[in-house]
Amino acid sequence: MSKDSKKPLSTWNLNPAPESTEHIKLKEQYELFINGEWQKPTAGLYFDTVNPASQEKLANIAHANDADVDKAVKAAREAYTNVWSKMSGKERGKYLFRIARLIQEKAREFAVIETLDGGKPIRESRDIDIPLAANHFFYYAGWADKLEFAFPNKKVESIGVAAQIIPWNFPLLMAAWKIAPALAAGNTVVLKPAETTSLTALKLAEIIEESGLPAGVVNIITGFGDTGSALVNHPDVDKIAFTGSTNVGKMIQKSTAETDKRLTLELGGKSANIIFEDAAIDQAVEGIVNGIFFNQGHVCCAGSRLFVQEGVAAEVIQKLKDRIDTLVVGDPMDKNTDIGAINSQKQWESISKYLELGVNEGNEMYQGKCAIPEKGLYFPPTIFIDVAQSSRLVQEEIFGPVLTIQTFRTVDEVIQKANNTPYGLAAGVWTDKGSKIFNVTSKLRSGVVWANTYNKFDPTSPFGGYKESGFGREGGLHGLASYLK
Ligand code: ADP
Repeated sequence: MSKDSKKPLSTWNLNPAPESTEHIKLKEQYELFINGEWQKPTAGLYFDTVNPASQEKLANIAHANDADVDKAVKAAREAYTNVWSKMSGKERGKYLFRIARLIQEKAREFAVIETLDGGKPIRESRDIDIPLAANHFFYYAGWADKLEFAFPNKKVESIGVAAQIIPWNFPLLMAAWKIAPALAAGNTVVLKPAETTSLTALKLAEIIEESGLPAGVVNIITGFGDTGSALVNHPDVDKIAFTGSTNVGKMIQKSTAETDKRLTLELGGKSANIIFEDAAIDQAVEGIVNGIFFNQGHVCCAGSRLFVQEGVAAEVIQKLKDRIDTLVVGDPMDKNTDIGAINSQKQWESISKYLELGVNEGNEMYQGKCAIPEKGLYFPPTIFIDVAQSSRLVQEEIFGPVLTIQTFRTVDEVIQKANNTPYGLAAGVWTDKGSKIFNVTSKLRSGVVWANTYNKFDPTSPFGGYKESGFGREGGLHGLASYLK
């Protein structure tokens, strides 16, 4: 179709290519996985987990209260003291390898459930979330019997019981990021997934059961913020690993201030993508699109602020507009879909408020001309052009498919602007000059900086933030170190 025809390019005649859901067996009701058993919640309370694309209920999920949290922590403590801390690294590694292989065997099932429960495109669950989750288990399985080589000249020891709380944007992957290094280092775990996306963590519990992992080494409990709060405040927890919002992260930090609990926080972000005039523009535009519209912008390290050098601003903005017109928004289960469903009504409303704010501020807005399904929680790819540095759109995390664009002239100016937010999680630099990459990346206050690419993850690479994006690293040897003393 020619670019001049004014029709949205997403009306290319793509035949629907839905992934089958027939082979998926979900239980009607999920209990709590405590001490190797499926236990009913003490208060008998359950909540619904819903498919955000169709709004259909998928299953009942148990709501754990303080008593359930206590049972889970006790089970983890007993397993730590009596079994796991005494087991050789080689034996621990075998279990981790087994879990990794079981995730691979059931990869298709995991991918479909992730998409059903969370709304992310199946292409992404299938090609990114699930393979990376398995890779994290493989990677840390390899370290389990080599801790003295990982940290030469140090005598390392496990910490004890780890409380792990994860968000809804990468449910299985975040569970793998947290559980794999904790177990490799010899700790036991109580993990709480986010309330809107518990299913793949519960599926992981089924695999853990199948792997024969000793009872209590991994406990998976479900619930809302009250469950998370009871878990982090439990006196017998030694280490807390939290990924989620900056607000909750701050609350957790306060509540642990007078304890000797170890804490790592991976919080929000407002990451900058910087395009210099000498960049390969087409590749950069593709990288920007991937950086912010990937996973509906539900990525803490989403490249949500674009800085373009003035000489190429008009070209980049035009190319971006053309590209977002072609994005396919809709059924997450369709393999053609680029942007799936927003994860919850609450999140959809929050993104809409920022949109209203951006329009009221008088910013120029452009939305992709892609067709949006009438039913379900969808949002078109949206860009705001020439936004002021002081705007809330530039300063606050939107966590949706919304990109702000600012221009710059000099390297010093862009570094100053890119660093001028409360966050510091990730950034991207696009340029043809290696020296510029080293100069800029060394001055950006971000935990991760990608050069001429964006959103690339690997189990060997540490990930984490500066400032209000949190502290501590996950992935790689740094990620292992935070589960050892
Ligand atoms: P988001 O805004 O991305 O949903 P949250 O920080 O609210 O992020 O949620 C991330 C995780 O933290 C979820 O598993 C949630 O249930 C949990 N959580 C929410 N409130 C608390 C709290 N006060 N203490 C501990 N965990 C919490």
